[in-house]
Amino acid sequence: MLDNLTQRLAKVVKTIRGEARLTEANTAEMLREVRLALLEADVALPVVRNFIGKVREKAMGKEVMDSLSPGQALVGVVQQELASIMGADLGEKASQLNFSTQPPAIILMAGLQGVGKTTTVGKLARYLRQDKKKKVLTVSTDVYRPAAIKQLEMVSGQSGADFFRTESSEQPIAIAQAALDYAKRHFYDVLIVDTAGRLGIDEQMMQEISGLHQALSPIETLFVVDAMLGQDAINVAKSFNDALPLTGIVLTKLDGDARGGAALSVRHITGKPVKFVGVSEKLDGLEAFDPVRMANRILGMGDILALVEEARKNVDLKAAKELEKKLKVGGRFDLNDFKAQLEQMNNMGGLSGMLDKMPAQFRLAAQGANMEQANKHVGRMAGIINSMTPQERAKPELIKASRKRRIAAGAGVQVQEVNRLLSQFEQVQSMMKKIKNGGMMKLMRGLKG
Ligand code: GDP
Repeated sequence: MLDNLTQRLAKVVKTIRGEARLTEANTAEMLREVRLALLEADVALPVVRNFIGKVREKAMGKEVMDSLSPGQALVGVVQQELASIMGADLGEKASQLNFSTQPPAIILMAGLQGVGKTTTVGKLARYLRQDKKKKVLTVSTDVYRPAAIKQLEMVSGQSGADFFRTESSEQPIAIAQAALDYAKRHFYDVLIVDTAGRLGIDEQMMQEISGLHQALSPIETLFVVDAMLGQDAINVAKSFNDALPLTGIVLTKLDGDARGGAALSVRHITGKPVKFVGVSEKLDGLEAFDPVRMANRILGMGDILALVEEARKNVDLKAAKELEKKLKVGGRFDLNDFKAQLEQMNNMGGLSGMLDKMPAQFRLAAQGANMEQANKHVGRMAGIINSMTPQERAKPELIKASRKRRIAAGAGVQVQEVNRLLSQFEQVQSMMKKIKNGGMMKLMRGLKG
């Protein structure tokens, strides 16, 4: 995500951090680099100007100039300003969904066709169901595309939300009102209304969604925009913002090779907070947007917080506890445990998912390594363990030459790979022996934060 910008800015940050003295000349040079990096990432020009102006003013200020490490202080200013243009100045609450209304809280989705609106409804529904334990109903008013209605039905099913069935012969407003009525009678917490999009800004589409807005008075009107649109994202955002009282923005496809500048621009241009970002096609690919965290990530300070949160969500504490208990009573760390650990790693989004959130310098170092291959490798190792009998998994020393051949054939790999796995297992096993009582839980608790 935002790789180019991150790499470029991380380089600038590294240089200025080391500067013992800031002069007008090296500050100007640094600002030029930052400006170029932002423009290259498709950040809108007025946003770049505003940003550079503010940083320059502060850089020349007493606080930075007089500080013990001016380079470090300047990085602080860049970080603050970056977070501020992305919405940190709106306050922490701005990026959260508002539920302060009589249920059902209505979320109206707006945006062009193909930007990921329906997918985002599914992701939001999943988030509200699983993380917030809300009772969620979804409805589509896209009467022009029956396929879009089907798609919403499918993602709603996957997300655990209920879907309000409609006919495309009905009118959008009538559909929305019927869904609202149903949601009220069945005590839903949230009603998410998906709407029809067009390929471009279109008068009729705008009128339709304005009508829906009037009829529903939603507490949230979220504008969904595709980060891949680059500079255009900003123009589209502006048009929707002028036509509708938006309450927030969802920026999708930040995982693509989007230059990501839209993330920095949309909030500044519309004055509305980015509430979520889409980072994959899957329903769990939605992240709450946090401007400070995003600024840190862009500046190559990494997103350790997100990593910890991810780990917190996925780490199976019960499994860790059980393993600890087993080791405590003198049990042996065996191949079953090893496999559970491999699976744990996969749950954390695999190696590349974790790496994406690491500070840039780590990522640069790891660039040589082929992450995709590394992820595959983990999958193959699990495959090898799957071809073993329960007895072999519990007592790896049973695995001699003929068993190795059978296991290799079963997993479709060479015998050498089975050998490699066994020697890796032995390494981990001896490490496990060294972890004193309680060590495992301590490790996990560390992740729990
Ligand atoms: P809609 O026409 O706005 O409802 O768009 P869809 O929800 O049908 O999405 C259009 C395409 O974008 C689909 O192929 C989605 O899988 C894809 N998509 C949506 N959100 C994301 C995202 O955050 N990342 C990626 N990579 N693809 C996405």
